[in-house]
Formats: sequence, structure tokens, C-alpha cells
Amino acid sequence: MAQIDILSLSLEELTSEICVMGEKGFRAKQIFDWLHVKKINDFSQMSNISAQFRGELSKKFCLNHLIIKKRLVSRVDNTVKYLYGLKDGGAVESVLMEYNHGNSLCVSTQVGCKMGCEFCASTIAGWVRNLEPSEILGQIYESERDSGKPVDSVVLMGIGEPLDNFDNVVKFLRILSESGFSLRRVSLSTCGVVDKIYELAELKLGVTLSVSLHAATDEKRSAIMPINRRFDLNTLMRACDDYFDKTGRRISFEYSLIEGVNDGDDSADELIRLLGGKNCHINLIPVNEVKEREFRKSKSVLRFQKRLNAAGLNATVRRTLGADINAACGQLRRDDLFNS
Ligand code: SAH
Repeated sequence: MAQIDILSLSLEELTSEICVMGEKGFRAKQIFDWLHVKKINDFSQMSNISAQFRGELSKKFCLNHLIIKKRLVSRVDNTVKYLYGLKDGGAVESVLMEYNHGNSLCVSTQVGCKMGCEFCASTIAGWVRNLEPSEILGQIYESERDSGKPVDSVVLMGIGEPLDNFDNVVKFLRILSESGFSLRRVSLSTCGVVDKIYELAELKLGVTLSVSLHAATDEKRSAIMPINRRFDLNTLMRACDDYFDKTGRRISFEYSLIEGVNDGDDSADELIRLLGGKNCHINLIPVNEVKEREFRKSKSVLRFQKRLNAAGLNATVRRTLGADINAACGQLRRDDLFNS
């Protein structure tokens, strides 16, 4: 019989598995703590569990961990970019960033991506598979082990579309929350999978929703983000309003500025028309140049920001971290695929 991936079990699921093995429910809580609070990586380290039961556990369950294939450390600001190997040979990326308010880890949710955004490196070679909850958690645990720094906040902004792996991402969030990590310290970024935004709002998990907007008219957005041909801006904005109404969490809109595509005064005015009066935050990001793509960084980021601010919009320019290792999202995995 195939072994069960123990790190992907919620406390409730783990409890029923442990009870089936004839042990009391409190054992499950002890094991859960070893896995998700003390974050051990071998059953033998569970010192308050008998050796005999540890033996049974290691037959029934597997305890997967990720392998660091590559680690790039920024000399400018200590940002660390990891390329993690998965047990089927795939690879994903995480980025550990130091902010004044603590350490933030950007994690991947899929191997590759099927969303097809024109400017993104993660989607060029398509989608391979969804990550398991254990593989999303593993990115946090391995980066903590490797760096010796606790992860204080998590952003689901690495490779993949989190809402296209909805069930595993929600399970990941539940386990994270059961381990004592407040989901208020988690941001989930989506290109705009509207039906799943509604489902997420219903769950009231408390996560911040980041919406990758990048253009404020259907014509411009559909040209760079295929998802907009499925869910247009009107439909997306209604889902965002619903998320805010149901959760009370202010939406954060991501807007990567691409020279000549979405960085002119006309684009700023379109964004003002779309978001004016909404209780939201706009994150402006100079686009990361991807070597396979033609897009160039905008030279008018500050001009764009000023125009939004003058109209009363809350827009900030994201601080660039790890500029010297700033391979665009998905680029490290692509280089690895290409060279192996
Ligand atoms: N699929 C999700 C999360 C992963 S991408 C989403 O679309 O939101 C994380 C963020 O990086 C998104 O806002 C995405 O649009 C942005 N992004 C992708 N490629 C980029 C690039 N080359 N430069 C700047 N931002 C990019």
C-alpha cells in the first residue's frame, strides 16, 4: 500500500488516521506539533512517542522534504532565492526576503503555470502539476532550516496560480493556521480566477487577496493576460468587492509597469477610473525583464505613481529586493530545465 504523505494531513485527518492505528487522539496532536511546530524531518526525532509506535508511523506514512538544488544569496540585502527539487524530479522556487516587519517567504503553488500571462517566465513551458500541501509547507520549513530565520509572513506569489490549485492551497492554509501561524500574515496572489475568489471569500480564512491587474481596460488586459478573456474586468471587480464585503480585508492590486504597454498617462487615468473610490492598495512594480520576452521595464514608474496619488489612490512602488539575484519569477527553474 502506498504510504500517506503525513505533512499534507490536517489535524483532523491525522487524528482519524492515528485513531485507526489504535492510539488515542492526543497522540495525533503531539505528532502534529512535531511536524508543524517543531518542524522535525525524521520520525526518530519524536522523543515523546514510543520507538515502537514511531516504527509503525514510518511504515504507514512518508515524511517528505524538499532538496535545495540551488541557493542564490543577494550581496545587497540578504534576500535568498531557493530552487527546490521535488521527489519526482520537478523543481520550484521560493524567495526569502528581510523586511523591517520580519522575514517574508514567497512560495510556489504549482510546477509551471497554465495561465499564459505574456510577461511571466513561469508560464512559458506550461503547467506540469499541482503542488501538494506538504510541498508548499516544505518550502517554508526548508528555508527556515537552511537560513536559521523564522518565516513571519508568507506570500503565495511564486510559480503557479494558487486558485488553480484551490483544494491543496486551502488545505495548506488550514494546516498552517492549525500550527499557530496567523493567516493574517498570508497574502494570496491571483491573476483573477473569479469563481475561486468567491469560494475563497466564503471560507473567511483572513488571508489578504492580491489581484494581478496590470491593465485597467479589457482590451489592454486581454492582450497580456488570457484569463481576462474568460473573466472580464467588470466580473473581476464584482468578485473583489464581494471579497472585501465578506472578509473586511482590503484588496491589494499588483500593477507591473511595462514600457509602452501600460505605463502611459492614459493607462494611469484608466486605472483611476477603475479603482477610484475603492478601499484598496495598488502595488506598482517595474516589470522584471524576462530574457525570452520582449517586454522592457517602464521608465515612468514615479510619474505613473504621482498621477494615481494626485487622484487620491493609494499607490506605492514596491521596494526591489535582491536586485543582484533578481532573476524574474520562474527564471531559475527555467534555466535549470534548460541546462539539465
Ligand atoms: N499566478 C499568481 C501568482 C504568481 S505571479 C498571479 O498571477 O498573481 C506573482 C506576481 O508576479 C503576479 O502579480 C504576476 O503578474 C507578477 N509577475 C509575473 N511575471 C512578472 C514579471 N516579469 N515582472 C513583474 N511581475 C511579474
